[in-house]
Amino acid sequence: MLIDGADGNYRNDNLLLGFSDLRRLRSERPLVFAKGRGIFVVDENGKDYIEAVSSFYCAALGFSDEELADAAMRQLRALPMYPSAIHRTTAPVMELSERLAAIAPVRNARVHFAVTGSEANDHLVKFMWYGNGFAGEPRRRKIISRKASYHGSTIATAALGGGRDLHDSFALPMQDYLVIGHPGWPDAAEPGEDETAFTDRLAAELDRVIQEAGPETVGGLIAEPVSVSSGMYPPPAGYFEKITTVLRRYGIRLFVDEVVTGFGRSGEMWASQAMGLEPDCVTCAKGISGAYMPIAALLLGEEFAGRLDRGSDAKGWFAHGATHAAHTVSAAVALKVLDIFDERDVLGHVRRIIPHWNAALDGLLDHPLVTGNRKFGLMGALKVADPREAPDGNAAASLQVGGIAKAIYEAGLEAGIIVRPLAGCLVMAPPLIITEAEIGELARRLRLALDRTLAALP
Ligand code: PLP
Repeated sequence: MLIDGADGNYRNDNLLLGFSDLRRLRSERPLVFAKGRGIFVVDENGKDYIEAVSSFYCAALGFSDEELADAAMRQLRALPMYPSAIHRTTAPVMELSERLAAIAPVRNARVHFAVTGSEANDHLVKFMWYGNGFAGEPRRRKIISRKASYHGSTIATAALGGGRDLHDSFALPMQDYLVIGHPGWPDAAEPGEDETAFTDRLAAELDRVIQEAGPETVGGLIAEPVSVSSGMYPPPAGYFEKITTVLRRYGIRLFVDEVVTGFGRSGEMWASQAMGLEPDCVTCAKGISGAYMPIAALLLGEEFAGRLDRGSDAKGWFAHGATHAAHTVSAAVALKVLDIFDERDVLGHVRRIIPHWNAALDGLLDHPLVTGNRKFGLMGALKVADPREAPDGNAAASLQVGGIAKAIYEAGLEAGIIVRPLAGCLVMAPPLIITEAEIGELARRLRLALDRTLAALP
């Protein structure tokens, strides 16, 4: 029961939230939101907060888009759901697959839908195992990921990042998983290493890991274009070129996780385009529907998808599907998102606003708690440190939340701004619709949070 007792004591015995301190959750009412208005969310007491992270990097068009709500409502009234499987589907799903294939950063993409980003990445691993099995390469099961990356919360995906707590606390199986170094420049570099030497070393490590595993046993490498959950690290110069060269040498695929970066974050539709990547397959979620309805997509390259065809030909069917994958209402909303991108020139807006965003992040560098920043597209991180402590040079090794970043996050709630404290920094990715004036207000509230945290230091 959720009780606010007569004695004023709060007790919650029922609701178990993810990524939360469960002891605190039992005895302290969580923040409860009731409304959204543009880039703001409003809690049950009427207080507004700038959502500087678009909640989970997902509410790309803000929290009150009438056109998206109308699109959902229209579809709910016409046909609220019908599963897309067993040679049956719905018109919005057909149209969405065509429109996504037309803009995908993968040539001749075949599109498969899932519900969440975790599922999309999970299915990608599953499909790789399936396809390789039917294409005469059953030993190509191993998948490489980068330390401290995040690809989701299912068994397969939580194991991928090799992140502390995310996989080891759950004793997740790591069979067929290979984890290589984190490309967090310059924090993950060795003393004296310049950017070229750093990326050379990472590429050499990848080569060595593949050699040791046996190249014929490795199927793919999965990477986020920007390492979001380890603290928003854009890739160092030349990194992906070098990594891709190694992968191609051994016929290993590049899977790009665009769950956060897809749909305009970079100023291009895909970070793969902004960075000149040539992925074999891409996964996306979140921004695809502005997160108004859950939907994710796997954009599968021709050769990869062809392997699924071979499995289906051998067995008579592709034995995979789910009730809510390609949900009809989600697909209708995702179609409306694509319309809005065109009609309101969302990408043009993002490109115009990025310089203001960068200037706002740079404008906070003078604060005593801020030690640096990282920027990419309409997202970024402020590095923060308690000036009384030695700087933590390798914060990215852990995804854990704590210390000064957590304190600033709490002060931010007071000041009416929501940021994400991660690995010694404050990660942000505001809704793509943010205006120049709102960026100013975001910076003002953030500075207030920084000032209050500084003033409260013992
Ligand atoms: N991939 C990346 C890069 C993410 O940041 C996330 C979630 O934040 C996921 C995958 C998982 O997506 P979802 O939370 O929709 O399962």
